[in-house]
Amino acid sequence: MEQGSSDCVQLAAACVVLSQSREVEALIKKAVGAKDFPTALALMKAGKLDGNIGDSVHDLLIDTIQNESIQVWSGFIHHAHEDYALTVNEYHGVYWVHALEFDPVGYFLDEDSAVAFARSNWENVYEDGEEPDDDDESTDDDGELRCPFCQTTENCDHFLLMVDRTFRTAEGGPIYETFNSKWSDRSADQSEDEEFNERDAFEELLEEVECLADEQIGSSQSSAPGMSSAYISFFCSSKKRTQSAIKKFNKP
Ligand SMILES: [Zn+2]
Repeated sequence: MEQGSSDCVQLAAACVVLSQSREVEALIKKAVGAKDFPTALALMKAGKLDGNIGDSVHDLLIDTIQNESIQVWSGFIHHAHEDYALTVNEYHGVYWVHALEFDPVGYFLDEDSAVAFARSNWENVYEDGEEPDDDDESTDDDGELRCPFCQTTENCDHFLLMVDRTFRTAEGGPIYETFNSKWSDRSADQSEDEEFNERDAFEELLEEVECLADEQIGSSQSSAPGMSSAYISFFCSSKKRTQSAIKKFNKP
């Protein structure tokens, strides 16, 4: 996890600000007692929480800030499948950033610094009312393909076949060799036939794969400037179904 920015301070330094609040003073007085209160207040004003009294003030304020803060800003950290809530909270002039599974880095002494930290500490943070950059779309532009069942961009057990529809050739997947040899047999057999429509014949072969697969995804990829291929990829919902699809497709 990244360290806090230079705007970020530890609790002792934040106490200088907190010591100016009547309400915080009253809270400290009640907690440490009238006798120790002047010492506690002096420690806070000095920004040093030393000794037993300093320790009690420290523990009390850590909990109080966590529980009594008011939310002043909210947004989300955008992930491909789930967004996490992100908030900036204030307690008497002291601000802190809260996100799930994230230990607060410290405190900020003004709202702008806290919000700026919240916005920059994670990738793809957006505020209520804003649109996140969509990861899925940007990966499609790169031609990177995501499995619809396990979301990986790597090879997985669901992947059956990837076909370049423009150049009519299979490029990957466990049945790609069979697919290409089936296709070359068919196009060779029929090339003398005037009725033969290569495009229709290819789509027919694709339909056979489609019947065996559970999902198909189209994508495009630029091979050179101005040149782009349309791809179609097929996936099965489980390893078992992929294996049975391979078996069926490989049958002569
Ligand atoms: Zn998968």
